[in-house]
Amino acid sequence: MAINVKLMKRPERDVSYLRASLKGMAITFRHLVAPKWTMQYPEQKSTDDYTISQRWRGTHRMLTDEQGRAKCVACGLCPQICPANCIKLVPGEDEEGHRYPLIYEIDEFRCVFCGYCQEVCPEEAIHVGVHYENSEYQRGRFVYDLERLCAQTHPVSTLWDPSDPRGE
Ligand code: SF4
Ligand code: SF4
Repeated sequence: MAINVKLMKRPERDVSYLRASLKGMAITFRHLVAPKWTMQYPEQKSTDDYTISQRWRGTHRMLTDEQGRAKCVACGLCPQICPANCIKLVPGEDEEGHRYPLIYEIDEFRCVFCGYCQEVCPEEAIHVGVHYENSEYQRGRFVYDLERLCAQTHPVSTLWDPSDPRGE
């Protein structure tokens, strides 16, 4: 593909910047009188005009079964696909041959919130969540163990749907 290069000529005579200045001031004035979009966070977290998308990918959640056990069957797919290599899984097996995670941890600090773990999970156990208030004072606190992942209660994210790319 050919690339077009447009050469800009310098003005040959002195030009006035008055027009450009007036244009800039007009834009400033327009913003002065335009409706404000400032939200008083954290007291206010959504407005009629703004709510967080159900596709937001934030803090993970591990879903549990009726007995309160993690739905994870330690298949190993999510640590395998994770591009940030931030999932630690140590699988275990009970006497009946059922697999379960002995250790399951996600480092939310390293995670890039791609959502692949949610997409790949055959048990729909691990999910990214509609949640963003997870700041911490210590880096170690960003490593969520299984108990903490299971204790999250925020809504889980809706996956991207190719038939509805804009989520409408
Ligand atoms: S969202 Fe992506 S980066 Fe984060 S744990 Fe899941 S697969 Fe890894
Ligand atoms: S993909 Fe799902 S079932 Fe498999 S290890 Fe990850 S959370 Fe567990």
